Amino acid sequence: MSTQKTNLVLFGPPGAGKGTQANFIKESFGLVHISTGDVFRFNIKNATDLGKLAQTYMDAGNLVPDQVTIDMLSAEVEKNRAAKGFIFDGFPRTEAQAKALDILLNGYQTEITAMVALEVPDALLVQRLLERGKTSDRPDDANVEIIQNRINAYYSQTAILKSYYDAQGKYYGVDGVGTIEIITKRLKELINSF
Ligand code: AMP
Repeated sequence: MSTQKTNLVLFGPPGAGKGTQANFIKESFGLVHISTGDVFRFNIKNATDLGKLAQTYMDAGNLVPDQVTIDMLSAEVEKNRAAKGFIFDGFPRTEAQAKALDILLNGYQTEITAMVALEVPDALLVQRLLERGKTSDRPDDANVEIIQNRINAYYSQTAILKSYYDAQGKYYGVDGVGTIEIITKRLKELINSF
């Protein structure tokens, strides 16, 4: 590995299983998990200014503006600057965010180790999100149109990041279909190989 820290971008469309898998792998590798969606939801729950700003975008299934998201992520990294490394979950979602992340990590003398992408077909994503919506208390999981909008945002703004990391030899696709346990095993084997 070229850097001492392991910094992973856990990638994939909404419903690919990023949050679930991040929770399983973070402990095995001693990494700090930062989910931008979770941080936004925490702020909404606590009615902070950031939460109020993010809510309209999130409820509609649109991306929160880049600068707001980048500033929030930078603060989360700074809070955990002593970490062995990070799992970024749901970030970056645009090329501007990916570039900002490179600059941010550079400032800590580290870099992205790999983008690990969970590959799942669209039909399965909608099914998984609607299922999650029954219990997750997430308004953006409860409505098929909003789910579709999130998937559209992924394809129009986020999917290009595959080429961004591929061009640096850092893209790794993992089959995201199967049981949670099997997918965790695939991810652990891959991460151990870095
Ligand atoms: P997630 O929990 O990753 O599914 O994110 C839920 C919602 O939070 C998204 O639909 C966006 O509205 C917002 N969000 C999370 N991460 C980002 C990001 N990196 N950039 C912009 N919006 C984000």
